[in-house]
Amino acid sequence: MKIVHSKRELRETLAPYRAGSIGFVPTMGYLHDGHLSLMSTARARCETVVASIFVNPLQFGPNEDLDVYPRDTSGDTEKARDAGVDVLWMPESAQIYHDGHGTIVKVAHLTDHLCGAHRPGHFDGVTTIVAKLLNTVGPTYAFFGQKDYQQLAVVRRMVRDLDFPVEIAAVPTVRESDGLAMSSRNVFLSNSDRAAAGEIIRGLCAAHEQFSAGERRAARLVETVSAQIRRSGRAEVDYVECVDALTLEGLVEVSPQGDAVIAVAARFGSVRLIDNILLDQPAPAFTGSEP
Ligand code: AMP
Repeated sequence: MKIVHSKRELRETLAPYRAGSIGFVPTMGYLHDGHLSLMSTARARCETVVASIFVNPLQFGPNEDLDVYPRDTSGDTEKARDAGVDVLWMPESAQIYHDGHGTIVKVAHLTDHLCGAHRPGHFDGVTTIVAKLLNTVGPTYAFFGQKDYQQLAVVRRMVRDLDFPVEIAAVPTVRESDGLAMSSRNVFLSNSDRAAAGEIIRGLCAAHEQFSAGERRAARLVETVSAQIRRSGRAEVDYVECVDALTLEGLVEVSPQGDAVIAVAARFGSVRLIDNILLDQPAPAFTGSEP
């Protein structure tokens, strides 16, 4: 695995491989099995696999956790190598953003909902960095996790609207044994909050089951999730919403086909966690208790 830092180094390294397929996995590092699943999916589908680690300041709000975002360069390097990454790109912020950077890529409508409504400017930061990374890497495929459902939808829309020559591939959410979605931020949960955070997926699965049993009223499904999370007694819920899977607009009623997503953002102490469940797919299977 080759480690590169500058854009120029990256372009020069990839030049001989452009005739074949290039798979790209953008991350903010502190790699866990969710990231590694993206990398091994890329490995299975593409001739050359590029991963990036860049904690993008543009997508963090002024009171968010940019300064304390976890980092582990040597651990990440090992993990990326083991996952079969060919080129690991680890730029510094100054190498990514020129002085006086003034261009923002903004996807309308989809960003009005869910996290977009709670984290002003967040998705503008995401689409701007993803556009820059895609332009630099020039991949055939780029891999994104379903855990960040809105991010995936927003990136897909950007790629479609602006004719980026790349295919966006979605990878299912990887979970801990009690169902908690893996996240770099989980490391900051206290023991009690870690146990309580398992209520998110239990709530989402309960709503999924209710939908399978015939409940179509979005408010009822949302209340099932909210009640389960409240039961933990430790969460401050940003939102629980049942939205159309394509437009992300809030639903009153879910169609029998279940083309809807229930999405959650909740804070446990200072840690903000997100998760979601797709009603037209089987519920995630997990049986174990907290690891
Ligand atoms: P991040 O480092 O949090 O920006 O995530 C980088 C990529 O990994 C994004 O496409 C995420 O959606 C994806 N990802 C993060 N956590 C998971 C997970 N638990 N399962 C699958 N993909 C994930």
